[in-house]
Amino acid sequence: QAKTNGISQIFLFDRALHAALAERWQLEIDLRGALERHELILHYQPITALPTGQMVGVEALLRWHHPQRGMILPNEFIHLAEESGLIVPIGFWALETACLQFLAWQADYSRPRLQVLSVNLSARQLASPALVQTLGEIIQRTGINPAQLELEITESMVIHGFELARAQLGAIKNLGVKLAIDDFGTGYSSLSYLHHFPLDTLKVDRSFVNAMSDGSRNVEIVRAIIMLSQQLAMNVIAEGIETIEEAATLRDLGCDYGQGYHFSRPMTAPDITSWLHSQPLSL
Ligand code: C2E
Ligand code: MG
Ligand code: MG
Ligand code: MG
Repeated sequence: QAKTNGISQIFLFDRALHAALAERWQLEIDLRGALERHELILHYQPITALPTGQMVGVEALLRWHHPQRGMILPNEFIHLAEESGLIVPIGFWALETACLQFLAWQADYSRPRLQVLSVNLSARQLASPALVQTLGEIIQRTGINPAQLELEITESMVIHGFELARAQLGAIKNLGVKLAIDDFGTGYSSLSYLHHFPLDTLKVDRSFVNAMSDGSRNVEIVRAIIMLSQQLAMNVIAEGIETIEEAATLRDLGCDYGQGYHFSRPMTAPDITSWLHSQPLSL
């Protein structure tokens, strides 16, 4: 009896596993055609200067409008794109699309000018031999000022494949493009990479920001990260600011910039356009 039970459980497990694998496989097939079918779009989240509350830039964030499943967030498909290599064309599409949109916003002289466009780079893109040339071509084709383009990488990306990463990041810097370290504090316990790489901006992971309200030690950790970035002459952006208290604390700690639901969720391009039109013009 027990044996039969065990066996049927194995069959059940097997069926569930099979279904999960089939679903994953189907999603990857769907993703293969998603770019051509125009199912991928970018949302943009404002980056705000904490001392003034002004929106100074945006981060481009991928969304997938799946015909059957509706909107899928990056955490559900980026890993598939990464494993299949699809992230390379998708990532370059995102980069070029974001540059064109950014330039369209900048062309509106009657509105506050955005100063920075931030785009996430994947590990596969950073490892791609075509990265630097493609990036150069996108800058040429779109006409974006490379000093206003910032590429976000994560700690794990620079740790794995250290030498390649260093060469690639150096070449990106030579194009005049800025580099940010995303999700700072979550990836790797060593800080030694900070002086090996030409990084302009440090993005404090939202787990530190959200922990600040739990106690003074957490505030001290954020203070230390902000001081570290100042010592290294890096800009610092706090991610995931959800409350007015978090925004105020970070501003008082000397944090330059912030991003988070307190200011705005990621929005469609037309919504950003409307938002820009609601902002007071300041020069
Ligand atoms: P990320 O680069 O760290 O982006 C910030 C994420 O935090 C975004 O999630 C954003 O919607 C979310 N977020 C912003 N403010 C808040 C807040 O106040 N509270 C909370 N709880 N979350 C907030 P999203 O858009 O789902 O993207 C997740 C991750 O997917 C990104 O993390 C990034 O690593 C990756 N990703 C997104 N777009 C791209 C892309 O074009 N290329 C690559 N390679 N990765 C991307
Ligand atoms: Mg990012
Ligand atoms: Mg990230
Ligand atoms: Mg992040």
